[in-house]
Amino acid sequence: FSKQNGRNGYAFYFDELHTDTKRVLLLDTELRKAIDQRDFTLHFQPKIDAKNLQLIGVEALVRWQNDKLGFVSPAEFIPYAEETGLIIPLSEMIFELACESHKQLVDAGYTKVPIAINVSSIHFQQQNFLESIQHILERNNASAVNFEIEMTERTVMNSASETVSKLVKLKQMGFKLSIDDFGTGYSSLSYLVRFPLDILKIDRSFIQHICSLDDKQAVVDAIIQMSHRLKMKVVAEGVESAQQVELLKEMGCDYIQGYYYSKPLPINELIDFIQFWEVEHQGRY
Ligand code: C2E
Ligand code: MG
Ligand code: MG
Ligand code: MG
Repeated sequence: FSKQNGRNGYAFYFDELHTDTKRVLLLDTELRKAIDQRDFTLHFQPKIDAKNLQLIGVEALVRWQNDKLGFVSPAEFIPYAEETGLIIPLSEMIFELACESHKQLVDAGYTKVPIAINVSSIHFQQQNFLESIQHILERNNASAVNFEIEMTERTVMNSASETVSKLVKLKQMGFKLSIDDFGTGYSSLSYLVRFPLDILKIDRSFIQHICSLDDKQAVVDAIIQMSHRLKMKVVAEGVESAQQVELLKEMGCDYIQGYYYSKPLPINELIDFIQFWEVEHQGRY
């Protein structure tokens, strides 16, 4: 936008706006079409136990490859789907796909690899959220114990009174519950005490400079101690180096997730990865 010379600058700015609008319109049309056609896939990123290197589960991350738009990041289309309400059918489809993928893991002989699913706050706050989840599980003959629900701080802070009872019911169904991107959202910690949470995932922004910045290290250390006092397990997300792994292990972090061990993988590559990992680390999955 910084072009200064009169009409040119204006035209440039206008063009940018125009391109943005066109993209949003295209995104809208294509997203609706893709939801109708179930045109999404899931990739899965392993989570590794820091102490014994066992694979303790995977996180499902949605992927969308579109003819006209190319690869669209979930960081772009999830917020748009949330604004437009499209997140409800999309979120239900993601759950459905996760059930199908779990079946594929079981068919490959891996019965003990729980799948974590990111749940949008908009979906969570729907009146019939629990029923919709229950319905999908039943339709797929799937059990909640094989799944974990990842929510952000924003999700659990909104309409807090109903939140507790929803979370309790999810626990009763058999889901594990985790707080995603911890440290980036709401600043009150009181919900950590009130809600039945199993796992806390420290956001990548804290992990990124953990080796060079003392204050990041202090914060991560404090989060780990606090989580353990509250009987929660801790996942470090976005771990990319051996030094980060070492440091996190020293601090008592339970689980590691990040490119250092594996990027998110399509289901067939995940199955190969688990097979390799099983041999390498004498695990049983
Ligand atoms: P998230 O749930 O915190 O997921 C972690 C993101 O970090 C993923 O990006 C993952 O690919 C990326 N990541 C993992 N390890 C590393 C690493 O070592 N380095 C770096 N630089 N990045 C790493 P992705 O798949 O693009 O997803 C972005 C966000 O979009 C997710 O953040 C989540 O908030 C949302 N999202 C993705 N899939 C879904 C979904 O199925 N449903 C919903 N509601 N949201 C989703
Ligand atoms: Mg997540
Ligand atoms: Mg996360
Ligand atoms: Mg994150």
